[in-house]
Amino acid sequence: MQLADSYGRVATDLRVSLTDRCNLRCTYCMPAEGLAWLPRPEILTDSEVLRLVAIAVTRLGVTEIRLTGGEPTLRPGLVSLVQAITALVPRPEVALTTNGLLLGGSGGLAGALAAAGMDRVNVSLDTLRPDRFGEITRRHRLDDVFAGLEAAARAGFAPVKVNAVLMRGVNDDEAVPLLHWCLDRGYELRFIEQMPLDAQGGWRREQMVTAAEILDRLAAEFTLTPAPGRGNAPAELFTIDAGPGQVGVIASVSAPFCAACDRVRLTADGQVRDCLFARTESDLRTPLRSGADDEEIAARWVRAVRAKRAGHGIDVPGFVQPARPMSAIGG
Ligand code: SAM
Ligand code: SF4
Repeated sequence: MQLADSYGRVATDLRVSLTDRCNLRCTYCMPAEGLAWLPRPEILTDSEVLRLVAIAVTRLGVTEIRLTGGEPTLRPGLVSLVQAITALVPRPEVALTTNGLLLGGSGGLAGALAAAGMDRVNVSLDTLRPDRFGEITRRHRLDDVFAGLEAAARAGFAPVKVNAVLMRGVNDDEAVPLLHWCLDRGYELRFIEQMPLDAQGGWRREQMVTAAEILDRLAAEFTLTPAPGRGNAPAELFTIDAGPGQVGVIASVSAPFCAACDRVRLTADGQVRDCLFARTESDLRTPLRSGADDEEIAARWVRAVRAKRAGHGIDVPGFVQPARPMSAIGG
């Protein structure tokens, strides 16, 4: 069995949200007061997450697992979960998307995650300026992100990837400084266009800093050469000057890559979503908790993905933002 849709795409990359909670409050993601978190009993336990991941990997052809959230490092069982996922046969690639706060410092997770077999880490960082970091994330913890990035590099993640969202009038003058900073440290930077996924519904297309604008700003300082072999990756990659440094731009809104999408998502409360922008979900938690066997769950999962739409439809008149915000879907 595989997770194929009616347009011939096959999902092999599973994004698993481990929690909808977070220790930051990024303005483009959630309101200052946070959100009504998912009730604890509805959140999958570690063994339930592992069972669903194992079904995806061993029965449905999933080859990559990305752990995300909310903030996945808030999940107490994260390291053991990574250990168990990397022990699956066939072994999937395992990656983490994190705000980095808990990777470094005393008790930091970077070393333990590397030892557990985690393959790759993406850390989100939108600014190098402490005052702006406070404004964007509503917490003054930029030093913890820097420490987390250093810890990730020391733990052997290579390259450490950095995700940045630029917002007009907020941090859009930092495209070049962020790239210099990442190049100096051997981190691979990816700019992500801001998407209409914030809980407050505050996204405005005309406010969005487009991939084209970002590339224009970078081109004023660097020579960018498109790197070949994008495959199904959302980021369009460019080699910088003579290389080997690269930068990625993810134009989810202005140049959607839906036709090559190989992603499927599992929320922290056990719902399959075939797209970030899906308006419907398929419940796996109920069958999981009422004794369904692996084959039955796999069959439900296959049915869920078959109905995937051709595209996210942001540009289609009548587009409606999904009810779940990014932090509860798993970015
Ligand atoms: N908390 C972790 C983090 O921030 O990396 C993981 C979850 S977060 C939802 C995953 C990624 O989505 C982050 O890189 C974040 O910057 C990005 N993100 C959140 N809201 C977004 C939005 N409205 N548009 C584009 N990217 C967004
Ligand atoms: Fe938290 Fe990540 Fe959302 Fe920021 S983007 S509030 S770090 S989940």
